[in-house]
Amino acid sequence: NSNSNSNTDNSKSIANANKKIIAGDKVKATFVTLARNSDVWEILGSIRQVEDRFNRNFGYDWVFLNDEEFSEEFKRETSRLVSGKTHYGLIPHDQWSFPEWIDTNKAAETRERMRQEKVIYGDSISYRHMCRFESGFFFRHPLMEQFDYYWRVEPGVKIFCDIDYDIFKFMQDNDYEYSYTISLPEYQATIPTLWETTKHFLKEYPQYLHPNNFMDWLSDDGGVTYNGCHFWSNFEIGKLDFWRSDAYLAYFDYLDKAGGFFYERWGDAPVHSIAVGLFMDKQKIHFFDDLGYYHVPFNNCPVNEQTRLEKNCVCNPNDDITFKNYFCNNKYYKLKGLKKPEGWEKYGD
Ligand code: GDP
Ligand code: MN
Repeated sequence: NSNSNSNTDNSKSIANANKKIIAGDKVKATFVTLARNSDVWEILGSIRQVEDRFNRNFGYDWVFLNDEEFSEEFKRETSRLVSGKTHYGLIPHDQWSFPEWIDTNKAAETRERMRQEKVIYGDSISYRHMCRFESGFFFRHPLMEQFDYYWRVEPGVKIFCDIDYDIFKFMQDNDYEYSYTISLPEYQATIPTLWETTKHFLKEYPQYLHPNNFMDWLSDDGGVTYNGCHFWSNFEIGKLDFWRSDAYLAYFDYLDKAGGFFYERWGDAPVHSIAVGLFMDKQKIHFFDDLGYYHVPFNNCPVNEQTRLEKNCVCNPNDDITFKNYFCNNKYYKLKGLKKPEGWEKYGD
């Protein structure tokens, strides 16, 4: 259920030449995209931007995953744009269905209640499978095994600036294990018991709480309640070994058994973020302020003019959400003791 295309056309030999120059340095890294066949036209724009701004100079591979077989059309259209090798994988059925311990009647009641309460994606079964898969399984798909780092890309996203350095090598050289571009508070209606469940987990497995954790970013009262802050997981560049660690696997398993992916609507973003915040050394978390990124409806646009000029950005800094109060980046800068870019106040609230 996977195949790889070797690239033979001219445009790709340029990327191959570039690849040779850096071959010795190359990190074992891949892009990874979960998509439906119907997402093909939307993902092309994302790929084109990632390639133009970054990957055409580096030729990293791209893994596509789907709960159904990818169509010939999807494979043809995507492989022609990717400068590295493309891989197409099918998700095992047990990673995209109700586990046997889930009461499907109870799950249906939740969906009906959330439909009435108009919770976003609250009535969707497939969205829940998606969140569970991205939480617990993408990093252990056989096609991902050969890689150490990944960059998650979704349909319809934009990259606004040149990435003129090897971003995976940057992660590796700086010992970063998780990075993000946008952070914001989660809708509490989707995660009523996620934090309680997490606290129970910590009580049972206190050894997994990292001594230099980022708890204060997740909680404003020393861990009693969750403030909802999470890294928006439609963009992630990270180290796969973190998700493959004993701590994370035990945590995912605990959450999965508790049932909140189906009895509530736990998102992979808060699940990933809580894990990063509790089990990872906070020094290993990185915020990218130089890429420019859009996923509906939010923009990250570098507010520093010099950055925008040097990196040929094509975004409006007035649209940047980084320093707006609703989001969680001001808190991030503060807790990390980071200096905000010159003139950031102009782009706050
Ligand atoms: P949102 O960003 O939270 O609004 O959710 P999206 O609709 O963008 O879905 C998140 C990711 O999962 C995207 O990469 C989608 O292409 C993918 N996705 C969502 N639902 C499905 C599904 O039912 N099957 C597959 N194969 N991918 C899905
Ligand atoms: Mn999306």
